[in-house]
Amino acid sequence: MGKIDENGNLRVTYAYYDWMSVDPLKNAECSECVYLPVCGGGCGVVSYNETGTYHAKGCFKVKGTIEKQVLKYVEEITKANIDPLNYCDCKGGCGKE
Ligand code: SF4
Repeated sequence: MGKIDENGNLRVTYAYYDWMSVDPLKNAECSECVYLPVCGGGCGVVSYNETGTYHAKGCFKVKGTIEKQVLKYVEEITKANIDPLNYCDCKGGCGKE
């Protein structure tokens, strides 16, 4: 992506701008993927290593992880007998008790 020269100046390369210009909405697989809002198009390294471009999907440990997080959350609040619609742990900031 770039390097820092002997004077401490950042010297970016074309790859940096190429990576920064990635728009997952222009990628058919990502734009139609239900995980896009939390994934953002995935990992650039995965994308580049698998396809040779940053402009392809870069799926990385997203698919299935959210489902596991939701299940874990439900398991924990069920175990603690917490009503999720009336629970808050912000310590008073939101007005709920
Ligand atoms: S990188 Fe993979 S998981 Fe992420 S939005 Fe694109 S297709 Fe979906």
